[in-house]
Amino acid sequence: TGGAGVLGTQIAKSLGNEGIKVAILDIDEEAAKEVVAAIEKVGGTALGIKTNVLDKESLQKAEKIVREKLGPVDILINGAGGNHPKGTTDNEFLHKEDLQDTKQDLKTFFDLDQEGIEFVFNLNFLGTLLTSQVFTKNMIDVEGATIINVSSMNAFKPLTKIPAYSGAKAAVSNFTQWLAVHMSKVGIRVNAIAPGFFLTKQNRSLLLDENENYTERAQKIINQTPMERFGQPEELVGTILWLINEKAASFVNGVIVPIDGGFAAYSGV
Ligand code: NAD
Repeated sequence: TGGAGVLGTQIAKSLGNEGIKVAILDIDEEAAKEVVAAIEKVGGTALGIKTNVLDKESLQKAEKIVREKLGPVDILINGAGGNHPKGTTDNEFLHKEDLQDTKQDLKTFFDLDQEGIEFVFNLNFLGTLLTSQVFTKNMIDVEGATIINVSSMNAFKPLTKIPAYSGAKAAVSNFTQWLAVHMSKVGIRVNAIAPGFFLTKQNRSLLLDENENYTERAQKIINQTPMERFGQPEELVGTILWLINEKAASFVNGVIVPIDGGFAAYSGV
């Protein structure tokens, strides 16, 4: 899911290159078609299906199409996710003066919009849960069946300004462990990747200013990343190929692998 997004496209193309038949389930049909075309162009097999991960009927239809056209599903990657400005505060810290009338256009914690928060929770957590629910039934007894969820750095420790996204990804990590345990008797391994900071359209406005220079926040991230740079989407691929490999990762279950240039390990001192 989310296979037409920035990270999803890279993952889908890389799986296609490995000879894996890929179904791209994305709400953005046009973008999914482009990814399919790119995979087919280099001799891979791919299928794009307009799918809403928050609509069970849409997921059930997609699951059926995938099985009919590509065969049994052995790998599910839950990649659809993201943040929303309505679940984001303007400032990192609350100060008493923020509450004075003169700063009415400032979005503090108290102004966060319930719908925005629900949007973020639903897309990341519910979308992962519903998709897993719909797909896993027919993955039982499929050899090497495995799921990879997409968590985030903010699941380990919340990032400032984005309480909804941080909480939602913490829920994704927690659910990864839950599902790994739950599915352990029916032969489905469940793990997650936790990408660090990758410059994509989702976070671009937070990380680059109008002149394409690092914002204060981006510079803070770089300072906190021992490798002193943002990640490239292709740097997620090795971990994914390892986690889906039934020989290499046969006993790896319920883990959340950070891919972050050392961000999570660094205390800043
Ligand atoms: P992106 O916005 O480029 O991709 C997300 C994709 O999900 C899009 O193609 C979008 O159309 C699709 N989508 C949105 N709502 C959907 C729905 N209801 N049903 C189906 N598809 C839907 O984002 P990205 O940066 O490629 O992120 C991919 C995943 O990685 C997300 O889960 C994101 O939270 C996570 N992540 C990203 C970063 C980063 O630095 N970019 C870091 C950590 C985690």
